[in-house]
Amino acid sequence: MYTYEVITPQTNLTFVMGALKYGQEVKLKTALMATDRGLTNLLNKTIYESIVEKPEQIQTYEDFINKLTIEDRSALIMGLYHNSYGEEYITENECPKCGHINSNIVRLSKYSKVSFFKDSAEKFLSMRKELAFDDFEFKITLQPALLANELKIVDLTKTLELTPAQTSILLHTESVEFKGKKLVVDNNYLDILAALDVLIPKQVREIKKTIENTFEKYKLEVTYKVKCTKCQHEFKRTLDFVGEFFKQVIEAW
Ligand SMILES: [Zn+2]
Repeated sequence: MYTYEVITPQTNLTFVMGALKYGQEVKLKTALMATDRGLTNLLNKTIYESIVEKPEQIQTYEDFINKLTIEDRSALIMGLYHNSYGEEYITENECPKCGHINSNIVRLSKYSKVSFFKDSAEKFLSMRKELAFDDFEFKITLQPALLANELKIVDLTKTLELTPAQTSILLHTESVEFKGKKLVVDNNYLDILAALDVLIPKQVREIKKTIENTFEKYKLEVTYKVKCTKCQHEFKRTLDFVGEFFKQVIEAW
């Protein structure tokens, strides 16, 4: 059996990942028809079931979704992908200049870069960052983007067509205080989005920047260059682990 050791970039925990089983692949394939929440849940469960060795902090599936982040999951997916399909990703990249679709092979060993949080999982998970904009009586408390947070908002991001910035802010929001009212994502996400709408764009970008500098800088990243075969234009892309994983699952026969 193939195994692959993965250290999660944000919580700094060590896992040994196995390979995807055929039955799991079939389940994922058919679940692509389900709701986004159902699919995300199945993705998380599949990864959890594919762990061969896990750190002592992670004993149950509940631990897994409450103590690991979305960036951590990307690292685990990479391990699972590697054991199941090999280290090559065949990506499709639309040229921003001429629209031509270029097909490229991306090799993990060649392009992956990882930046680790150097302290314990507990330290990372307890990290909070506050930002206040007094002119709008607005204060936001930011937290790591747990898999559990994602499950709360995953259906919403599709139905409301949120931008990547809005999604990232919701994923990292512990609470918002707006005009004397305290809002939490669980049941006030619409109010939180409405409160963000009132801010000026510069302030929302400041929130996003804070998220990047506090949490998102710890991650596994695969960046690669594409040279368009039609117009020779060169551009950079970053591998989407979840997307590529599903693409491989769909195309497998
Ligand atoms: Zn081109």
